[in-house]
Amino acid sequence: MEIERYEVIFSDEIDAAEALRINSLKETSQQAIPDPDRWLEEELRRNVLLTTVDYAVDWARSRSIFPLMFGLACCAFEMIGSAASRFDISRFGMDIFRWSPRQADLMIVAGTLTWKMAPAVKLVYEQMAEPKWVIAMGACAISGGTFRESYSVVPGINHIIPVDVYVPGCPPRPEGLLYGITKIHKKIGKESIKTS
Ligand code: SF4
Repeated sequence: MEIERYEVIFSDEIDAAEALRINSLKETSQQAIPDPDRWLEEELRRNVLLTTVDYAVDWARSRSIFPLMFGLACCAFEMIGSAASRFDISRFGMDIFRWSPRQADLMIVAGTLTWKMAPAVKLVYEQMAEPKWVIAMGACAISGGTFRESYSVVPGINHIIPVDVYVPGCPPRPEGLLYGITKIHKKIGKESIKTS
């Protein structure tokens, strides 16, 4: 008669085998299993943009500025140059220079402002609708420049109207004006529709 043979397994072997299984699972489970609904998260990330009303308004406003051309002297030619193809002010959403203050929100004063011209600058500025911004382009517009001591020259257009950005130089190059425009963009980006 054949005697059945039983394999004797000691409890410490069982413990060791269990430890092996646990350690193996532990090693392969360091990262959480992705949520089965992750497609939803992906869809939201691709199709939903969360922002504030202020950010959206400021972004749209800063990329659609209508500049008013106010060339008073030599600096004006650099301002005109900024609209030509080499510098291409259109890249900043400023396709057309306006001649009417009622269609403009950025006044670029480029050149020497005389006291005789000052009332016209003030009047045109006041005719522009809010919100509006001003760039003083060139040493003369900023401070009177070389003609500062002259009886006929305004020692800076900030004596007549508020200035948002100063672009220094005699004359500043078009790149300088474009840099000033990016500063206006930043300034617009900080505004809130609650106060504008
Ligand atoms: S800053 Fe120089 S280039 Fe510009 S208007 Fe005055 S003198 Fe002319």
